[in-house]
Amino acid sequence: MAACGRVSPAHALATVWLRELGAAKRAWNERSRGPSSAPPWARFDEANPPRFLCDPSLGGLARWLRAAGYEARLAPGVPGHRLPDEALRRGLVLLTSEAEVLDRRIVADGSLVVAWVPSALTMAEQLHLAAVELGLTLRESRCMACGGRLVPTAKEAVRSRIPPRTALWQDDYFVCAECDRLFWRGTHWERIAATLRRTVAA
Ligand SMILES: [Zn+2]
Repeated sequence: MAACGRVSPAHALATVWLRELGAAKRAWNERSRGPSSAPPWARFDEANPPRFLCDPSLGGLARWLRAAGYEARLAPGVPGHRLPDEALRRGLVLLTSEAEVLDRRIVADGSLVVAWVPSALTMAEQLHLAAVELGLTLRESRCMACGGRLVPTAKEAVRSRIPPRTALWQDDYFVCAECDRLFWRGTHWERIAATLRRTVAA
């Protein structure tokens, strides 16, 4: 595919990977095996969503996963080769652009769930790949900056922080429970929501 010149090697790899995932899911569904050998996409559900640790090259993906409603962290002080152990210790799913992580014993024996996401893909492609691999569906958006819960807030309580023009037409506001940022469903929010609907199943 890449030699045909239409796509980069990273795009070609991701496309083949998605195709393989589709085939693996169909085979899994037909066999309907028990949860003990469950692949990544069958381990999580609405009540038990995955929480993520992203490697430093996937900081943008972490922000988008938060917008899709998932907890996604970076570990700035942890060297790259320690990330798999860190994710295992904290019970997190590791998202990494380093394919060699997949060879680690803790991945092969199923104790650590890892999804490989090439950093050369566009943001939407990275999100789509992670969503397919882990069976993600859209949840209530979290703060893109820190991952905190967004709490609906009365307009009057935050009026001094609302740009005057926005206050004229927008009545619904949210404040992040962690970092106190103010959010509203403006054009930026709508663009983000449209991308999420295209890339992550509802
Ligand atoms: Zn926040």
